Amino acid sequence: MNTPNYRGRFAPTPTGPLHFGSIVAALASFLDARKNNGQWLVRIEDIDPLRELPGADSDILRTLEAHHLLWDESIRYQSQRSDAYDAFIAQLSSHNHTYLCPCSRKTLIKNNGSHSPECKPLQAHNSQQYAIRFITKPKHYQWQDLLLGQQSYLSKEGLDDFVIKRKEGFYAYQMAVVCDDIDQNISHIIRGSDLLDSTPFQLALYQATNTSAPQFGHIPVILNASGQKLSKQNQAPAICNKTASFNLQKALFALNHPPPNTLHNAPAKEIINWAILNWSLKKLPRTLAIKKDSIA
Ligand code: GLU
Repeated sequence: MNTPNYRGRFAPTPTGPLHFGSIVAALASFLDARKNNGQWLVRIEDIDPLRELPGADSDILRTLEAHHLLWDESIRYQSQRSDAYDAFIAQLSSHNHTYLCPCSRKTLIKNNGSHSPECKPLQAHNSQQYAIRFITKPKHYQWQDLLLGQQSYLSKEGLDDFVIKRKEGFYAYQMAVVCDDIDQNISHIIRGSDLLDSTPFQLALYQATNTSAPQFGHIPVILNASGQKLSKQNQAPAICNKTASFNLQKALFALNHPPPNTLHNAPAKEIINWAILNWSLKKLPRTLAIKKDSIA
């Protein structure tokens, strides 16, 4: 397959080591890029120092290497992108898509989502004690998901004006991810279904900046025995690099691409090469979640 200018990416937040669910997501986006003769980039989304674990970024990169998930171009760190994010916010503000908001989440809940009369358009202003919010218009945000088919979200019922820069001065995920996906010319985003709800927010930002959105495909997240999504918060075990081949085989089972028995003890590189040749989005499970215990 050859999809001209295919550019995919894996964009982990360095809050801890990769777990099985994150390897599944990295593998799916990597294989889809390689199958399409595309580029695959890695971006470390380190814009929230309060949630990050020192050293997690290099740990993540070592795990990707051990699993032969080798990236193109140099790693991008979002912590080094403040100028680009300020410029992106300034662009949105110059088209009246933003306002300064002093409201805390608590006050908004108490007032049923109504903002304080103090909220005002973003001007040359000391924005220190204000969050910057993006104004969402009442409309349907739709996309044809590569895996889940037609998706449609109505804003204003579910999509409040969302924060793009927090009061504390931190940039928000929804804004930074779109700014970088545009800047890095990402054409295809294959990621976990836990980010399905973020996609309409991100589409709103593409529309506001008059940029065409990439294609999105949301793969199932992996659940633990109690039905919770594997995550650092619920102590999902870190992936062990010494068992890379076994991890890859299990991840391929989860993605409905079981490798043949002949690859049983093969090195990671051989499993990856087989998987690139045999990869097809059509074979992927069309569900939002899979229990880890149910994977062969
Ligand atoms: N950094 C986000 C996360 O780790 C993923 C961003 C994305 O794939 O859009 O959840």
